[in-house]
Amino acid sequence: MDCIFCKIANGEIPSTTLYEDNDFKVIFDANPGNIGHSLVICKHHYADIFEMPEELTAKGFATAKKIAGAVKKATNCDGVNVIQNNGEAAGQTVFHFHIHVLPRFNNDSVDIKFGGIEAEAEKVTEIVEKIKKNL
Ligand code: 5GP
Ligand code: ZN
Repeated sequence: MDCIFCKIANGEIPSTTLYEDNDFKVIFDANPGNIGHSLVICKHHYADIFEMPEELTAKGFATAKKIAGAVKKATNCDGVNVIQNNGEAAGQTVFHFHIHVLPRFNNDSVDIKFGGIEAEAEKVTEIVEKIKKNL
């Protein structure tokens, strides 16, 4: 399979490695939002969170927490975004599970926005029930 993150994870493509264990490799993003923008890449090919086994997902986010702490100390940033995109609509461009650890600085140029919709009470109630049924 021609997957760039598989090649990075298995060392076929060399990368500056910040951390690795049997399941994850952590490298810098090639197109960073800020200096220190790191990617926690799973060493096994799963396209997204839906395909990932639960235990491995938990380990991935625990790794992201560890990296977030180290990145915060190293960059002296004011905040950190931990982001994990699933699907093109969510901004995923590499279809191999990874978690972004993005250091943030007051007034930096990164643009992550929420809000901007009216959540009608009736629709909210409906979706609450649907989500509960799918758990
Ligand atoms: P996504 O949008 O899928 O959540 O994030 C993919 C990220 O991987 C992007 O931020 C992009 O800059 C980064 N990326 C894509 N190809 C490479 C690569 O070959 N090496 C590294 N280090 N990062 C990459
Ligand atoms: Zn892959």
